[in-house]
Amino acid sequence: MARTLKCPICKKPVALTDPYMPFCSDRCKLIDLGHWAAEKYVISTPIDPEAAEEAAERPEQGGEE
Ligand SMILES: [Zn+2]
Repeated sequence: MARTLKCPICKKPVALTDPYMPFCSDRCKLIDLGHWAAEKYVISTPIDPEAAEEAAERPEQGGEE
């Protein structure tokens, strides 16, 4: 039986043979890299997949509070 794991970004199942493993796609891999970059600057802000997707689309948003 085929073993899979879940993409840490979008939670889709990913085959262990996937070239982007543990991500489902290059896009999710880039989002995860964005997490690491963001953590350098915003350590106290919790990061969840939905926020990460928004951040990936609007990387220069600085917050309006
Ligand atoms: Zn994914």
